Amino acid sequence: ALALPAAAYMLQEKEVHAAEMERSFIAIKPDGVQRGLIAEIISRFERKGFKLVAIKIVIPTKDFAQKHYHDLKERPFFNGLCDFLSSGPVVAMVWEGEGVIKYGRKLIGATDPQKSEPGTIRGDLAVVVGRNIIHGSDGPETAKDEINLWFKPEELTNYSSNAEKWIYG
Ligand code: ADP
Repeated sequence: ALALPAAAYMLQEKEVHAAEMERSFIAIKPDGVQRGLIAEIISRFERKGFKLVAIKIVIPTKDFAQKHYHDLKERPFFNGLCDFLSSGPVVAMVWEGEGVIKYGRKLIGATDPQKSEPGTIRGDLAVVVGRNIIHGSDGPETAKDEINLWFKPEELTNYSSNAEKWIYG
């Protein structure tokens, strides 16, 4: 690093910073898409200051849905849940930012919309647990696994935005 000119050194620092930034897998489920809530949901993450680094719209197969929800395979609602996730287009995204996994869950609200606080996505926009419109990774390990399941490495972008210095100081 000592031999690098100042500009290259700064770029390297930025890349290191970007590499350390936390990422979460966030998906708008088929009910959120069908209800026209894509922009509303994206807007909440975007206005917070999180950065969208990958996005696509896909109809998952049931087999793929089962992979995504494999942790829940013993639950009585597993089959219905996988049928539902594969019933229409899903907006799959990766959001980046400090604390995005934990805070993303706060923006989303409790699993059961009846228990989600007003002001959260599920609290404001959903009514029942089987139609809670959005998924968000629940921890660093699941985030990694889910990002790898839904995206190829080349689909993930690395960029810095000018807003970052105003968001992070
Ligand atoms: P979260 O999505 O908040 O991480 P879970 O991982 O516990 O919650 O459950 C995954 C998804 O399974 C929920 O978002 C919801 O769509 C569905 N689900 C959870 N509990 C039930 C239930 N009791 N009945 C029907 N669907 C459920």
